[in-house]
Amino acid sequence: MTGVYSLLPEGRHGLLAPPGGGEDVDGYLAVGGYAPLVAPDRLLDRIAATGLRGRGGAGFPAAVKLRAVRDAPGPRVVVANGEEGEPGSVKDRWLLRHRPHVVLDGVRLAAAMTGAERGFVYLSDDRAEQAVRQALAESAPEVRIDVVRTQHTYVAGEETAVVRAVNGGPALPTAKPPRPFESGVGGAPTLVANVETLARVAVMYSRPDEADSVAGAHLVTLSGAGAAGAALAEVPAGTHLKVLADLCGHGTATAVVLGGMFGGLYGEGWTDLPLDHDGLKEAGGALGCGALHFLHPEDCPVGVAAEATAYLAAQSARQCGVCVSGTGALAATLTAAAHGEAGHDSVDKLRRWSQQLPGRGACGLLDAAARIVGSLLAHFPDRIDAHRRSDCPACAGAAPEDGRRFTVPVP
Ligand code: SF4
Repeated sequence: MTGVYSLLPEGRHGLLAPPGGGEDVDGYLAVGGYAPLVAPDRLLDRIAATGLRGRGGAGFPAAVKLRAVRDAPGPRVVVANGEEGEPGSVKDRWLLRHRPHVVLDGVRLAAAMTGAERGFVYLSDDRAEQAVRQALAESAPEVRIDVVRTQHTYVAGEETAVVRAVNGGPALPTAKPPRPFESGVGGAPTLVANVETLARVAVMYSRPDEADSVAGAHLVTLSGAGAAGAALAEVPAGTHLKVLADLCGHGTATAVVLGGMFGGLYGEGWTDLPLDHDGLKEAGGALGCGALHFLHPEDCPVGVAAEATAYLAAQSARQCGVCVSGTGALAATLTAAAHGEAGHDSVDKLRRWSQQLPGRGACGLLDAAARIVGSLLAHFPDRIDAHRRSDCPACAGAAPEDGRRFTVPVP
């Protein structure tokens, strides 16, 4: 099943309405958009009370980031980050294409809460850019907002890469500190916030009675191999993954890749997992950007993991030596294992690397590769053994290496 779906309770306002439709400024004003913000600190306190977490992947509390920029010496900047690097995620491009005003309203509100004088919308998608430029021409926001176009790569949406690109440099991560809230665009304290996060702030402001449910809901991209398609859905936090698999025609899946590639693979027991940051973390995974890719009995988890790590190795920005050698070694060893050609100590090496490499790169790409491998070893030891014996029930030893299975079209 392809398309756009809401699983929010009847009458609740979300980000996918009107489903599949666009919005113009009159329609957005009619639902309470762009209302004057008279008490920025009160809105910030409300955001903190709801526990809204960033939707870019890390799940950092939104109010903490807002306050860090507000409390830094001005001038300040807000960047709406619409560059979703995970190939299996489409939510940010969909939002920018179909709900540009709710994103721009979020930028305006974030600027008011932080005292920022400049705003940017950072994106790589043609149709998103057209929609945002048209919305800017219609709405004349109180704060100056410019569009910055970037390349679509795995690392271009990492917050320091965003700052570097907006400053005119390459969209590549830099070492931290300083973090953007300390020194960002033009050296100014900068809030880099995901476009879904900002859109949720805008809806929370226009629908204060629904603030808790708006803050708790998630946009998720659902995909899997085979005939069933991909779907974009808005769901309450805690929705079981089985419900989401059923929604998009992948109810017979045997495993799932979590968080784009960032959350790793999960096998037996995946149907009971809840969709929220803490629940997935507790289970050893990660929600990341909210993209889920379902695996069926005919999908080999070793082949899928090899494809994911090969994709990540190819996407490495090649700035950190440990990432170049680490992702390369993970991908090469796993690909050899998928082809039944790995050495006798390959599993020990993969286990050791998956434990030693996380946290050693300047961005999360190396962590994602290590998590894919670690989770494969934890959940599918029998399949790795099957590949050693060259009798994997699901594959003939061929592991695709271009990441194509994870690429999802925007509905
Ligand atoms: S960890 Fe890898 S992808 Fe990230 S900045 Fe370093 S080299 Fe680039």
